[in-house]
Amino acid sequence: MQIGRWNHQSAGNHSGSSGSSHGGRPYSPRPHEKGADAFSQGKPSRGGRASRFPSRGGYGSRGGYRGRGGVRRGGFGSFGQTEAEISKFMNKTVVTTEEPVFVPEHTFSDFDINEHLKKNILARKYELPTPIQDKAIPHALLGQDVVGLAETGTGKTAAFLIPLIDKVMKQKGERILVMAPTRELAVQIEKELAGFARGLGFRGMVAVGGANIGPQISQLKHEPAFVIGTPGRLKDLMERRALNLSGFGTVVLDEADRMLDMGFIDDMRFILGKMRKERHTLFFSATMSKDIERLIGDFLTSPVVISVKKRDTPSSVDQDVVRIPSGKDKFEVLAEMLKDRAFSRVLVFGRTKFGVEKLAKALSRRHIHAESIHGNKTHGARIRALEAFKSGKVSVLVATDVAARGLDIPAVSHVINYDLPSTYEDYIHRIGRTGRATLKGKALTFVQGR
Ligand code: AMP
Repeated sequence: MQIGRWNHQSAGNHSGSSGSSHGGRPYSPRPHEKGADAFSQGKPSRGGRASRFPSRGGYGSRGGYRGRGGVRRGGFGSFGQTEAEISKFMNKTVVTTEEPVFVPEHTFSDFDINEHLKKNILARKYELPTPIQDKAIPHALLGQDVVGLAETGTGKTAAFLIPLIDKVMKQKGERILVMAPTRELAVQIEKELAGFARGLGFRGMVAVGGANIGPQISQLKHEPAFVIGTPGRLKDLMERRALNLSGFGTVVLDEADRMLDMGFIDDMRFILGKMRKERHTLFFSATMSKDIERLIGDFLTSPVVISVKKRDTPSSVDQDVVRIPSGKDKFEVLAEMLKDRAFSRVLVFGRTKFGVEKLAKALSRRHIHAESIHGNKTHGARIRALEAFKSGKVSVLVATDVAARGLDIPAVSHVINYDLPSTYEDYIHRIGRTGRATLKGKALTFVQGR
């Protein structure tokens, strides 16, 4: 993470969207597990452990699992259907960096914000601020302009919503404009706002294209504290005199780079140009470019720049695939593997609650003591399973992605992707459970039928 004052000469320090110009100390997941981050590196694919569980021949016979291709999110698709995707489950280059674990300087209760808002944050189960929240919130609370170089998944939405909700609570009549590139993002921001603003007595609305403008005009008559919209529709509403920006002292530009890519630059400039000069501006972009620099230079005042980059893969995790030929039973491969004492604390990922439960039971029948955590278990049962795993009473914990999010278990020796993850992002979350702090970990992904 980098933090600094905006300065055109040094802006290049913050440039680059992806791994290549990684902007300093990235975030290693803490209990809340936001933005498992890393950038590509690793070791040459080892012969070591994985080669003891060879691609060809040897283990069992039942077969059966087939990745269901196609759909990525929200469906049954898996990441790892092609050789190119599979190659992402292996380290290919040499580790050259050690990334320090991110330790937030603040807790949410440290922030000087509305007490009810704090309760709402806790109710959302946000335990600790993510890096962008940790660094941006104090500045935003002081009314300073902020440039957050952060992408989706870093917690950037709450990084601006929390201080701005507090502002609305402290300054009666304060109104906030949020510009976002897409309808989906605007709706998502509004949802998050609704969660944080529960019981606080103000409103937010979404003003996006592709939806009937009439109801939006009506909503604007109630002067909601937050107006969250796409630039085209916001401009349209302004031109129809339904939206008057003179009452708005604060503006957020979320995913500014994407707004530029989508051709919103003129609308953005038009909207910002109609706002008062002495306003509070929070600006978020995953990438830095000349156009972005120009926008910041034109519309922000001495902003604090905070850069949070997500890494691709944690450097401390040794990754490899375990190829299971068609017709071989991957359960047998797993059972065999887990007999090895080196597999001392193993987190096994399955895709479904049912599959996870079944797998844990099947392992236990083989005298490999396993617990499971998934959404069909009560909170108490999950805690008990977790404690048994943490204390070493059982050496294997089988989990779904959802149940494992946010877990902070020390010294996990191996993460095994028994079922493929749905997305690469899920993969990164999974393998981030091992190799934490100063420890090295191993991640093995079962790839079947090749
Ligand atoms: P964003 O980058 O704002 O899209 O946030 C990504 C996801 O992280 C959302 O589901 C948020 O609800 C969640 N999130 C944001 N901040 C935190 C936090 N401090 N602790 C736990 N989850 C968070």
